[in-house]
Amino acid sequence: MPAANPAKTATTAVTTAATTAARTAAAGGEPVEVRRSAKRRRTVSAYRDGGRIVVLIPARFTRAEEAEWVATMVARLQRGGGARRSGDAALARRAAELSRDYLDGRARPAGVRWVGVMRTQWASCTPSTGTIRLSAALRELPGWVQDYVLLHELAHLIVPGHGPRFWALLQAYPRTERARGYLDGVSASAGLSFSDDLQDDLQDDVHGDPHEDRAELTPTSG
Ligand SMILES: [Zn+2]
Repeated sequence: MPAANPAKTATTAVTTAATTAARTAAAGGEPVEVRRSAKRRRTVSAYRDGGRIVVLIPARFTRAEEAEWVATMVARLQRGGGARRSGDAALARRAAELSRDYLDGRARPAGVRWVGVMRTQWASCTPSTGTIRLSAALRELPGWVQDYVLLHELAHLIVPGHGPRFWALLQAYPRTERARGYLDGVSASAGLSFSDDLQDDLQDDVHGDPHEDRAELTPTSG
């Protein structure tokens, strides 16, 4: 189960080549990179990047927890990789519409795409690269909720954090509060460990350690 208690450790471990090789075998030949972050308290996420699977876990996880979660996340990614690509063009178009309608066209993402179901996140944004990823889990939710999540990530391209300036950007969207409530409800009813309302959706600058972020800037192929 996901961590319920915040980590108190302050170390960030770097995965060695040897452990990565071991995980590669476990992931059916796909390279897996595990990154531990002291800033990451109770969320686990995974995505494909540059031909490998990256799994982000809290630094305080034991090796057993790490093994369990890496297996879970890799399985989810590998299950969810089939049809999603067909939706990426539509997603990019929708992002452009939302940016135009609610952000005066100021948010111009470098890339918007669907990824496999993320265990603890609905979406993520990497402001430094302009990259937005939406979890396949959102596909089952109403369009206006998907729009809110996409708009939320787009707004991070203008304001990276979650301060008043950020929320002011989202006020133009009439269903912001309803969507936030909806997401909370879905998370709670499913017993998911999603962080509240996309509070852990930023992949750099605000959360995470800078070395980890630099590694994430690798152009994705997949
Ligand atoms: Zn956010």
